[in-house]
Amino acid sequence: MSAEYAKLARDAATANEGYPEYLLRLTELEVAARSANALRARIKQAGFPVLKDFDTYDFSALAHLSKPKILELARGEWIDQHTNCCLVGNPGTGKTHLAVALGLAACRQGRRVRFFTAASLVTQLEEAQKAYQLDRFLGHLDKTDLLICDELGYLSFSRTGAELLFQVFADRYERASLLVTSNLPFSDWGQVFQGERMTAALLDRLTHRCHIFEMNGESYRFRESVKASKKEKGK
Ligand code: ADP
Ligand code: MG
Repeated sequence: MSAEYAKLARDAATANEGYPEYLLRLTELEVAARSANALRARIKQAGFPVLKDFDTYDFSALAHLSKPKILELARGEWIDQHTNCCLVGNPGTGKTHLAVALGLAACRQGRRVRFFTAASLVTQLEEAQKAYQLDRFLGHLDKTDLLICDELGYLSFSRTGAELLFQVFADRYERASLLVTSNLPFSDWGQVFQGERMTAALLDRLTHRCHIFEMNGESYRFRESVKASKKEKGK
């Protein structure tokens, strides 16, 4: 307001506007600036590895992936309903891209989002536990409306690590949303969580109310590099 009041006052005088109109304009400007700042802070806080959105996602790449369903999730009601989302498929098919785009959409709706790779989440949980800060860290995660856990399955965890991750997932059950991406079909999750019992209990909670998208297909990265090398040869 302090940056703009003089200019707006001059504009109002020129346009012969009254004080209420002037005040309204000035307030609107302040509100818009504050909400833009808040959004910027939410996006920063989310810790996305890259900022990718739906506009750069080519939905024709995976024929069986439903664009309307993904865009419906982008509206965020699933987060109010505390349901989950899983994107499962081989590398390079855009799971991280869509996870970030869904996270950004949630940020724009004023929701608190945190993005972790599974490996870094587990490391941070273990470190917090060692430093007697686990409750604090869990409390922090608890405040997020959407927790994104990317790349589950690339690395397996120690028993403690798996148990900590289980605890995070189980804590959110029916209370807050999780978005998990994985290269492993659910039948192979035992490799990550070591032990059939824990895996079964976890999958039971995660998939109970869950939007599951199967994202197997040709790697987009690979396809793009083949295209690029063909172009190069054509020159
Ligand atoms: P994944 O997480 O499934 O391994 P990524 O989301 O990291 O895949 O995608 C790999 C790269 O390819 C990224 O740069 C991503 O933006 C791009 N990409 C993947 N699928 C698509 C798509 N359908 N349209 C546009 N870009 C895509
Ligand atoms: Mg990825």
